[in-house]
Amino acid sequence: MIRVGSGIDVHAFADGDHVMLGGVRLPHTQGVRAHSDGDVLLHALCDALLGAAGLGDIGQHFPDNDPQWRGAASGQFVTHAISLLAARGWQLVNADLTLLCEAPRIAAQREVIRASVAGLLGIAVEAVNLKATTTERLGFAGRGEGLAAMATVLIESASVTTP
Ligand code: MG
Repeated sequence: MIRVGSGIDVHAFADGDHVMLGGVRLPHTQGVRAHSDGDVLLHALCDALLGAAGLGDIGQHFPDNDPQWRGAASGQFVTHAISLLAARGWQLVNADLTLLCEAPRIAAQREVIRASVAGLLGIAVEAVNLKATTTERLGFAGRGEGLAAMATVLIESASVTTP
């Protein structure tokens, strides 16, 4: 059996000197406003994983009013989601991530981020794809007010055969 999941996340820029993307700290002229470390790529990925398995969303599992998650490294959301899936017999096949922002530009760090995400997911780097696009200066991302990410994942279960 296979299942597909999608996720999206947005964070506003705020004062700061770096953003976290895929578990990688990128120096930037701004930070992001967030309860956790505000890693949009990992938050979208986490929602895609939970969505594929029919397990709700990141807010249900990691409430943003829970002090336990203040400043949390978002990698732990992803690894927890993976463990929830594994407990139900699901394995991740691949993940495709898209970052939407004018800045920071990630071209120079793309492979570093990709490897970081693959490491968190416990899958081959070839099974993780990372895309980035601007929004042609349109909308909140285009105005530099924040950044967004989208994620799609495919999961499979060996224990259930498709009809
Ligand atoms: Mg978020």
